[in-house]
Amino acid sequence: MAHNKQLKVVIRGLPTDFDQEEIMSELHSFGFNPNHISLLRNRKTNTNMPLFLVTLPKCPANQDIFNMKTIGFFRVVAEPLNKSSMPPQCYRCQKFFHHSRFCARAPKCLKCSRGHLTSECTKSAKAQDKCANCSGPHPANFSGCPKNPINNKNKPTKNVWHEQTAPHKEKISQQKPTFSEVVKGGQNNESLDAKAVRPKWPR
Ligand SMILES: [Zn+2]
Ligand SMILES: [Zn+2]
Ligand SMILES: [Zn+2]
Repeated sequence: MAHNKQLKVVIRGLPTDFDQEEIMSELHSFGFNPNHISLLRNRKTNTNMPLFLVTLPKCPANQDIFNMKTIGFFRVVAEPLNKSSMPPQCYRCQKFFHHSRFCARAPKCLKCSRGHLTSECTKSAKAQDKCANCSGPHPANFSGCPKNPINNKNKPTKNVWHEQTAPHKEKISQQKPTFSEVVKGGQNNESLDAKAVRPKWPR
C-alpha cells in the first residue's frame, strides 16, 4: 500500500480533552487501524477545536469509518477531511472559495508565500513555512490557520456541544449541513441526500 494513500477523517462530537488513546482503542475495536490521531487546533484563539483528525490507510474496508456513530458514550460524526471540513482553496494564490482554473491573481506559494507557483518553490524542506494568508509559520493550507474560514465561520464547537447535551436519536437525521454544503449555498444538495442513504453502523 502506497504511503501517500491516506484516508483523512474528521471526527466531530468528542470533547477536546477526550483521550486520544481511547479513540485509538475504540477504533481498533471497530476493526480500524489508524496511523495517526490528532486534534485540530485553532491558531487564532490558540485553542483546541473539538475535531479529531484520524489518518488511516486508504482501503475499501476503512470507508466504513464514515458509518461510525459512537465513540465511548459520545455520538460522533465522521466526515472526509477535504470534502466536509475544509473550504475550497485555490492552488494558485492560496485564497479560499475559488478554483485555480478561474484564478487570475498572481501566484503565491503554498509553502513560502512568495510570488511563484508552489511547484516552482525552491525552499528547502527544513526552512520554515510561511503562510500566504496570515504570514504564520505553516503552509497556507494548514487547517489551523487563522485565515482559514474553518476557524472563523460555522463554528463547529456550538453544534458539537449542543448535540452532546441533547442526545436524541431523532436529531441524527436533522443534522446541519456540513461546511462545504453551506459553502455551496444550495447549488447542489445532492451530497446531503447521498449521506442519508448510507447503511447504519453497525450493520
Ligand atoms: Zn486563486
Ligand atoms: Zn515557495
Ligand atoms: Zn496561515
